[in-house]
Amino acid sequence: ICEVFRAVLPSNSDSVLSYLAGMKIVLSTQNPNKRKELLEMLPDHYQILSPLEVNWTEPIAETGDTLRANALIKAKTLSDHSGYPALADDSGLLVDALRGAPGVYSARYAGEGATDQDNMAKLLREMAGKPNRKAHFETVLAFVDGGSVHYFSGQVHGHIGEQPRGQNGFGYDPLFIPEGHDQSFGQLPAETKKSLSHRSQALKAFLAFIQTKE
Ligand code: IMP
Repeated sequence: ICEVFRAVLPSNSDSVLSYLAGMKIVLSTQNPNKRKELLEMLPDHYQILSPLEVNWTEPIAETGDTLRANALIKAKTLSDHSGYPALADDSGLLVDALRGAPGVYSARYAGEGATDQDNMAKLLREMAGKPNRKAHFETVLAFVDGGSVHYFSGQVHGHIGEQPRGQNGFGYDPLFIPEGHDQSFGQLPAETKKSLSHRSQALKAFLAFIQTKE
C-alpha cells in the first residue's frame, strides 16, 4: 500500500506514509508509568517502541531552557536515529510568585541528584512570606514525524500548600493542591490525579491530532 501511495503522493509526504506503514511510534522515555499511560489511551493499532527497542541505550541530555526545547531534543534524537515518528514529553511545575521557577529545572531544583524531598524543601523556602501561592504543572509533548514537528501541551492549575501532605504520586505532588480540591495530589487518588493532570491533557491533544490523520 505504501508503495502505491509513494508513487502518487508528493515527495514531502513522509508523515502520511508513516501513518500507513504500521503506526509505529517511538516513545522517548524509559519511564514505565508514562509508557503505560500512553498505551492505555492509544488505539490498539498503534505500536509503541521504547528507546531500547530501536537500539538507543544512552540517556539524552536535556540541554534546552524550555519544556518545548527539551521535548524537541528528545523526540528528534530518537526519530533521527530510528527513522520512525517519535514522541517525547517534558514537564515541570511553574510557580507564579517565582516567575515560572522551577519550570524546566523542576527535577533538579535543589541541585543535580536532588530528591523530591530536597526539591520540595527548597520550594517551601523560596515561597516563605509570599502570599501568592498560585502554580501550575505543564507538560509539553513534541511529536517529530519526518520533517514535521507538532507540539501539544496540557496544564493543571492550583496552588502550593504550606507543607507536604500525602504519599501518592511523585515529585511535587504532596505540595500541589489542584483548583477545586482541598487535598494535594499526594492525597488525592491516582485516578483523580490522572483525570486532571497536565500529562493526560497533553496526551488527549496528541490523540485528537493523530486520530484526524487516520
Ligand atoms: P518530567 O519531565 O515528567 O520527568 O518531569 C520533570 C520534573 O517535574 C519531575 O522530576 C518532577 O519534579 C516534576 N513533575 C512533573 N510532573 C509532575 C507531577 O505530575 N507531579 C509532581 N511533580 C511533577
